[in-house]
Amino acid sequence: MSAQIISGKEVAAAVKARIRNEVAELAERGREVGLATLLVGDDPASHIYVGYKHKDAESVGIKSIDISLPETATQEDVLGVIDELNSRPDVTGMIVQLPLPSGLNDEAAVERVLPTKDADGLHPFNLGRLLLGQPGPLPATPSGIMTMLDYYGIDVAGKIAVVVGRSFLVGRPMALMLGTKGTDATVIQAHSRTPDLPAICRQADILIAAVGRPGMFDATYVKPGAVVIDVGTNRTDDGLVGDVAFDEVSRVASAISPVPGGVGPMTRASLLTNTVRLASSD
Ligand code: NDP
Repeated sequence: MSAQIISGKEVAAAVKARIRNEVAELAERGREVGLATLLVGDDPASHIYVGYKHKDAESVGIKSIDISLPETATQEDVLGVIDELNSRPDVTGMIVQLPLPSGLNDEAAVERVLPTKDADGLHPFNLGRLLLGQPGPLPATPSGIMTMLDYYGIDVAGKIAVVVGRSFLVGRPMALMLGTKGTDATVIQAHSRTPDLPAICRQADILIAAVGRPGMFDATYVKPGAVVIDVGTNRTDDGLVGDVAFDEVSRVASAISPVPGGVGPMTRASLLTNTVRLASSD
């Protein structure tokens, strides 16, 4: 058996086409959509990620506003820029690129962003809305995964989903989204203290690997016919690799998302979805 490839690249292209139309419709109604990013310091990976976000925004007609602060910026500097962006009418969504340089407080920065401009969907207010099942911007990675499953007609209702990883960025919101009323997966949330992880994972009809360990999930973790979503993004000497041993798992799974070209493009597309929704919601 060779698994179907779940192409985030393909789904992201479809999402971007829809967003391009929505942005054009908003413009006709005199509503400009603007996404600001705040980047602090010189981290090369963060520079690359921010560059992608601007390229994506511009490709769908969203105005992008690129603010940088030096590595020496203080917490007050960071919060001051966020306040200024909060008050700008042309900024309808905002992303603070994380992690901030050491010595600065990520959580305080995320909390300073107005929940109504929170393009990342990571403000505690919006995470609370997710917990309560209320609409709002959603954390981009798990929301992108839900879109990808939906696009490929993978129904999660009644299925057992195992989410490995419990970060506030990926694992926890992923488990909430899969298990919410109306989506109706039965969710097991696993982590580094989970005993006999392979046996737990073999219960999964849908396995989400979000750990950050290259190739950790080999075929012994996968039930034949399972759907496997690889969130891991690991930079190695062999290039960018996921958490899943792609070749051997794709002989066991029914469907699998690759790295690169799987979850990554969907995370980026979901940021645009949040941005356009925030701009249309007032
Ligand atoms: P974190 O480091 O915040 O969390 C990792 C999670 O994995 C933790 O909950 C940890 O458990 C768990 N874990 C670590 N080692 C093991 C193990 N041996 N067995 C079981 N569980 C383990 O990472 P993130 O959630 O932020 O990211 C996870 C991966 O996803 C990374 O590779 C990251 O680069 C990637 N990523 C990719 C994105 C994309 O768009 N493609 C977006 C965001 C992240 P514990 O809580 O017990 O410590």
